[in-house]
Parts: sequence; structure tokens; C-alpha cells
Amino acid sequence: MLFTQKQVTRSKKIVILCNDQKIPITVYGGGSGTVGGVFPLNGGITIDMGKLNNIIEFDRESELISVESGLILDNLEESLNYEGYTIRHFPQSMKSASIGGLIATKSVGQFSTKYGGIEDILVGLDVLLPNGKIVKTTRVPRTSTGPDIKNIFIGSEGTFGIILTATLKVLKIPEKMIFSSYLCQDFFKGIDAIKELLQSGLKPPVIRLYNQEESELKFRKIGLNKKGSLLILCHEGLKNIVDSEIKETNKICQRHGLTYTGDKIGKMWYKHRFDTKGIMEYNQKTGGISDAIEISVNWNGIKKLYQEVIQYFKKNSIKFAAHLSHIYPTGASIYFIYYVKSDDESKAEKLFFQTWNEVLMIILKNNASISHHHGIGIVKKELLKEELGEGYDILLGIKNCLDPNKILNKGKLVD
Ligand SMILES: Cc1cc2nc3c(=O)[nH]c(=O)nc-3n(C[C@H](O)[C@H](O)[C@H](O)COP(=O)(O)OP(=O)(O)OC[C@H]3O[C@@H](n4cnc5c(N)ncnc54)[C@H](O)[C@@H]3O)c2cc1C
Repeated sequence: MLFTQKQVTRSKKIVILCNDQKIPITVYGGGSGTVGGVFPLNGGITIDMGKLNNIIEFDRESELISVESGLILDNLEESLNYEGYTIRHFPQSMKSASIGGLIATKSVGQFSTKYGGIEDILVGLDVLLPNGKIVKTTRVPRTSTGPDIKNIFIGSEGTFGIILTATLKVLKIPEKMIFSSYLCQDFFKGIDAIKELLQSGLKPPVIRLYNQEESELKFRKIGLNKKGSLLILCHEGLKNIVDSEIKETNKICQRHGLTYTGDKIGKMWYKHRFDTKGIMEYNQKTGGISDAIEISVNWNGIKKLYQEVIQYFKKNSIKFAAHLSHIYPTGASIYFIYYVKSDDESKAEKLFFQTWNEVLMIILKNNASISHHHGIGIVKKELLKEELGEGYDILLGIKNCLDPNKILNKGKLVD
């Protein structure tokens, strides 16, 4: 605790000094963000939150844990597991992402379909403002005391304040966890099935529906030569509830013509769910760049949008894959992965960004959102105004109020 106080006092002094001198500050959590959030566009100093990494309090009765923001999520999960608890927020980057970074980018985890995003797990936080004041929000289940202050900082990407601590919901490790998988005739048949699953009130924590291109790769890995789309599901919770959820899920899947293909592929996904080897190796090749565009769309527009994006990839001979892994009764996030290649590094980079921008334009044209969970950073900044419309000025007003000297993550999100 003393250590904590020392760190906070030091951070406070640095922030006040920078504010007085108008020195830009970039906050660095775990550095796993994919959109350039920690890149100090305008120089200044970077504050690494890594040493602010303690667990402050574990309130078992309320199932709440309070932590310092530099704590790496995987370390938190490990400590919780030791006590029989879990956070159930599992982004693929959890071994390197910090709690503050997860809040600042509005992250989601692989089990989001049941447990939601970080906004559903965060109960309260402390934030250091550029003037040295610390905002402490109330840590209770719900408040009706005006707009919720903590929400201002969720997704603020280090531009409104420095998140110092967070109180998060935890739960006991589920009694039972079961995987299943299905083969869908095509991607759209799979979409129809998972839409019905969610709209009938079922909420398996993991639903992963891969398009044909990605499915065939996954099937080949276990020695199967199947055509169609792969659906992986995981159910967890109390044994009797899990058993009946599986029965109801199976009925819906059968009604949509899906074929049950066992639990092996789901278990394999679970075992390797943090691997990023493939994408890393591709990016290390000369002239090879791959990345993911993660967007959010309602069911009524999902098929049209998907078709338009893949037509674009095909027309431009760009290798791609896609899957849905964060599902809601009203829609889903689509994760488009694309790969560009050229013998010339600079040509590859040009093609990469051209593709990035043109795909995002298709997303906007379809009334979808340009980011479901990676945030804006540098690479989506130009299009943020386009998506938010008049709402952009509200963010600008908040920025002007909280950081009038524009020192925090200068040049990002809103300015
Ligand atoms: C391989 C890989 C897989 C990924 N998978 C997922 C996934 O499944 N789900 C998902 O949501 N994201 C995923 N991401 C993206 C990334 O991990 C998240 O954006 C993560 O939330 C960033 O946390 P971080 O601590 O690394 O933040 P950083 O990268 O350090 O920072 C990100 C942004 O947050 C700000 N920030 C950091 N800490 C604070 C703080 N204490 N106060 C205020 N601002 C702060 C920074 O200034 C920056 O703007 C993935 C990334 C990689 C590389």
C-alpha cells in the first residue's frame, strides 16, 4: 500500500509539472494495443504504468477485486484462480495487456458473449487528471446520479486521464465447461443459427463462427477435409444448466441443418487460444503485412456488409479470412483478417493502408462501426469524426474540460 501511495504521488507530481509546462504525456500500459495508441506522436514523456501492479483489495463477499491499473490481466487471473475465482475476461493479448489499457481501449475477451466487455466488468475506477486531481467513482452495482462518470474513461485511450486503479467483478470458477462444434453448410447458415441462439436467450460464453476460408484451415489442422463453415461453442456454469443449454443449442443447430462434429476442435481452440504465431510470422516476412479489422454490425446488415467486404478483397486479389466471435442478440462483431504481400516493403505498406481505409469506408457506408474493440489510435483517427457525427464535438468538449492544455496522448482520439 505504501508503495502504491509513493507511485501515485510521484505520478501526480509529474503530471502537474507536465501540465504547467505543456509537455505531452503518453500513457503506456502493456503496449499490446494494435492501433498505435502508445506511439508518442508529439514527443514529450511516456509514463509506463508497469510498476503500479498491485492487488489492492479482494472483497469475496461482493465478488469484487480492486487493482492498480498497471497489473497485467494474466497475472490477475492467475492470482484469482489460486483462490478459486476468475475474471472471465480473456482477450487474446491477456498475457501482455494491463488493466488500465484494457479499460482505455474498451476491450473484449473471448468469453464476451456471456460476460460482456470490460464495460460490463468494471465497477469503478480512480483517474488522475492533468491538473493533479484524482476522480474516484463510487463502487456499487448501479447508480442514478447523473451520467456515469466512469464511462467517460472507458475507451478514452489515455486522452482524458490516467487510470490509476480499477474495481472489477469476479466470479467463482464455473463448475462445468463443455465444448462442441458444428459444420454449417455455409457461413450465412451459421449466422442464422447463432442469431437464433442469442435471440432465444441462450448465452454460451464462446461462440466462434469461421468463414469457409478460415474453417478449412482449422479442419485441415485436425486432418479433416471438410467444406463449409465451422462453429465452435463453449458452455459453462452450473452442471444442470450447462446440460440443458447444450440440449437447447443442439435443437436450434439441427433446425438450421448444422452437423455436430464433436468437441475435439473446440478443445484444441481452447488450448491454443493465445497463439499468435501465424500472424507474427507473416508480418516478419519481407513485404508481408497482415492485420485484423474488427467491426460491429446489426443482424439486419451483416450479410450485405460481409459480402461487400469479401468482394472487395477478391477483386483486389487480397488473401483474407473472417470470423464472428463476439455475439449479441442484436448483432455481432466481424473480424476480417487480411494479408498483403509485395517484394517491395514500401509498396506492401501502401497497399496495406489503402486496403485498410477502403474496407473501413465500406463499413461506414453500411452503418456499421469501424471498431468493436481495438479502438481508434492513429490508424482509424481520420474516420472517427465520420462515424460519430455531431457526437464528436461532445468528446471534444470533454477533452477541453479535462485536459485544456491537451497534454494527454496529444494528437489521438479527439483534438
Ligand atoms: C495478439 C493480440 C491479440 C489481441 N487480442 C485482443 C482481444 O482479444 N480483445 C481486445 O479487446 N483487444 C485485443 N488486442 C488489443 C490490445 O491487447 C488491447 O487493446 C489492450 O486493451 C491494450 O492494453 P495494454 O495495456 O497493452 O495497452 P497499451 O497498448 O499500453 O495502450 C493502449 C491505449 O490505452 C492507453 N492506456 C494504457 N494504460 C492506460 C492507463 N492506465 N490510463 C489511461 N490510458 C491508458 C494508452 O495510452 C493507449 O492509448 C490484441 C492485441 C494483440 C497484439
